Amino acid sequence: MKKIDISVVVPVYREEEIINDFYNELIRVMEKSGTVFEIIFVNDDFSNSETMKKLEAIHNKDNRVVLIGFTRNYGHQMALTAGIDYARGDAVVMLDADLQHPPELILTLIDNWKKGYDIVYTIREDVLGETLFKKLSAKMFYFLMSKISDIDMGINCADFRLMSRKTIDEFKKLREKSRFIRGLVGWMGYRKIGVPYIGQQRNKGTSKYSLKKILSFALNGLLSFSDFPIRIISVTGLIISSTSFLYLIRVAYYFLFTEEEIPNLLPITTIILFLCGIQMLMLGIIGEYIAKIYTETKNRPLYLIDKIYDKIN
Ligand code: UDP
Ligand code: MG
Repeated sequence: MKKIDISVVVPVYREEEIINDFYNELIRVMEKSGTVFEIIFVNDDFSNSETMKKLEAIHNKDNRVVLIGFTRNYGHQMALTAGIDYARGDAVVMLDADLQHPPELILTLIDNWKKGYDIVYTIREDVLGETLFKKLSAKMFYFLMSKISDIDMGINCADFRLMSRKTIDEFKKLREKSRFIRGLVGWMGYRKIGVPYIGQQRNKGTSKYSLKKILSFALNGLLSFSDFPIRIISVTGLIISSTSFLYLIRVAYYFLFTEEEIPNLLPITTIILFLCGIQMLMLGIIGEYIAKIYTETKNRPLYLIDKIYDKIN
């Protein structure tokens, strides 16, 4: 088998409207790079989708294209993982299929890798055409993560990066099921450098990250890379018990030193409701961690592959 310099890994989920444009642009850039490359499309959906047909057509006319079809939708992070597991290049570049990550930047990523950097990540300085809500919530999330977790994940990073073979081999050993790849890469360390870019507007197709998916992705990142939420529980518990102790003193004061009636039940009801709420929240946080432990202990494979098309072998 010939030696491959660069493996480009692309997770794809229902991108039939844009996949051909993406492929043409990617090929233009990769041919300009002067490297020997393979492109690994991971179709994160069952095989008979419209996207799969287009990907099959691309694979049929281009030997450099490998196609992995999942048995169902496992999510963006699993699709990336499968592509990384399969990649054979001396370096792996990963990017989205919707042209929001400009393929042209791959040339800069490769230049930096040639200079000796093991991980070349990208910093999204702005995203064109993104809703204010998505922009602000992403900013807040990365700010929060930089404060409460002890790994260096970078601000506003997306899964658009290059990793050298050495780092890919280590990454493949990290098999945790709640996958937050940008956190894992941050955790790994190595010699790295960031390259800024402006995220492009999605011209065709719609975002496959629904609000529910974004929230669960963020929660995953938070729980996998920070003990902070669980620490809030003990601190809040401590604060609440000290407050109730103050209340106890007040009640004792009424009993011992005054003839007055203890005020009516309203404030007590308020406090009980407040405490019940807090308790449920805290239990919920503990539950989230337990659910993660449960998922890990089931020891299922991360994804199942329906078929692989590969003419490079
Ligand atoms: N994607 C995927 N599986 C999913 C959701 C998304 O493989 O369940 C792919 C999608 O095709 C795209 C990339 O992951 O290549 C990023 O998704 P999207 O552009 O919808 O997210 P956004 O840019 O809006 O955050
Ligand atoms: Mg996108």
